[in-house]
Amino acid sequence: MKIAFVSTECVPYAKTGGLADVAGSLPVELQNLGCEVKVFIPKYFLIDEMKHELHYNWDIGEMPIRINGQIRSVHVHQSKLPGSNVEIDFIDCPYYFHRNRIYTDDPDEDERFILFSKGVIETLQRIQWAPDVIHCNDWQSGLIPLFIKDNYNWDKLFDKTATVFTIHNIGYQGRFSKSALLSAEIRGDLFYPGGPVEFEGGISFMKTGIVFSDILNTVSNTYAHEILTPELGAGLHIALQQRKDDLYGILNGVDHRIWNPETDKHLPFKYSQGDMSGKIKNKNFLLERFGMSFDEKIPLIGIVSRMVLQKGFDIFADALGDLMRLSAQWIILGNGEDKYEHMFRMISQKLPHKTGVYLGYNNELSHLIEAGADMFLMPSRYEPCGLNQIYSLKYGTVPIVRKTGGLADTVHDWDELHHYGLDTGTGFSFNDYSGYALYKGVERAVNCFHVKDVWKKIQKNGMRRDYSWKNSAEKYMELYKMAKEKRR
Ligand code: ADP
Repeated sequence: MKIAFVSTECVPYAKTGGLADVAGSLPVELQNLGCEVKVFIPKYFLIDEMKHELHYNWDIGEMPIRINGQIRSVHVHQSKLPGSNVEIDFIDCPYYFHRNRIYTDDPDEDERFILFSKGVIETLQRIQWAPDVIHCNDWQSGLIPLFIKDNYNWDKLFDKTATVFTIHNIGYQGRFSKSALLSAEIRGDLFYPGGPVEFEGGISFMKTGIVFSDILNTVSNTYAHEILTPELGAGLHIALQQRKDDLYGILNGVDHRIWNPETDKHLPFKYSQGDMSGKIKNKNFLLERFGMSFDEKIPLIGIVSRMVLQKGFDIFADALGDLMRLSAQWIILGNGEDKYEHMFRMISQKLPHKTGVYLGYNNELSHLIEAGADMFLMPSRYEPCGLNQIYSLKYGTVPIVRKTGGLADTVHDWDELHHYGLDTGTGFSFNDYSGYALYKGVERAVNCFHVKDVWKKIQKNGMRRDYSWKNSAEKYMELYKMAKEKRR
């Protein structure tokens, strides 16, 4: 089966969140299952051509693509995903992509991803490669299903090409003014109140993907149900309900080539289920880096996160006083909204021996926190899948999570009342979205930490779980088959 995998992030080239991890791993696993896969991402300015061995594709050359009435010149660089034979194509248009950030607030943000989407389709035309499935991810590639069925349907190349649309986060919808219709050359008769591309008077790329793709999925079963509700559907629940028979949930996997405490190249000390001594050494190393002292009786709680409302930092703020009174240390890595960055800057200044804070993006440190912390906190308001709690399980770092989306599907609450003989508890979860519930969840974990044999059991339960990509990739294969069937 031929798959064109379209993403706007991919490890190791460009990453802001979990989508990059998925795009760097799932295509490799699909190729292992016998698919022929080509990955497409934009060639952002920050991607180093030399370091990643990108080659200009002379066969394709320069492609003129019309956006907003202007012809832009687009070309393609090629490489292979590291450690694999999977081809990756970088769609380059300096006018749109040579900016300092992956996503911007610039007024032509819509045009950037319209161009990317058309660039992918026109590359396929140039190389005359007809995918069985174009797998689109999030709003940035949400117009592709419509383009294939409408703007480019004159091209017989795509007669049998199906589209799958994966929602990694319904909170980011690619909403623009009606002028995007013209920029993308979408038929005007598709735009009317409640129509397939319209949302609250403007146009939504995410809604367009939902309406026109052959099959839809999101990244956990629970989230697939949650987005059908007004509470968590972020206004698109009605469009989703209309497609609910075509909507599936497939959990993201973990790439064990990158996230594995036995081999992780970012860790000074490797460790395994059989020998956890390296974990304590990593904890010591991590604390030293933040000028904090090590005490094996005090648990270290880690956070690695984008600092946005979705991730539960408002309830963290509500519980801050109580949390800081617990006998625990904290190391926090992340960046995002000013108010949350300010909160963490404040506590690290006030309580330097208790809290270490790094505001920014740091991949190596994210691995070290996963390995060195005893616990990992994710109090998300909603969480489509969440990867860090899955990495935490693998690293023997007990997750404390709010029971929502993928967090509910991957972290099994420890049952203090019947703990001996219980092989399923892998972490601590709480239901209510409140500072009090969060605090109680952390308090439970801290109390359990002191009962050493119980703690070891929880760690081992988590480390034994298998969240490798293989299972999920097989489920994607099923999805592709269904999409092909539908297209027929
Ligand atoms: P989301 O995609 O919503 O941000 P996920 O849990 O699915 O959340 O994925 C987040 C990914 O981004 C993880 O691989 C995590 O380690 C990484 N990450 C988030 N913030 C940072 C940061 N400040 N520095 C390094 N890695 C980060």
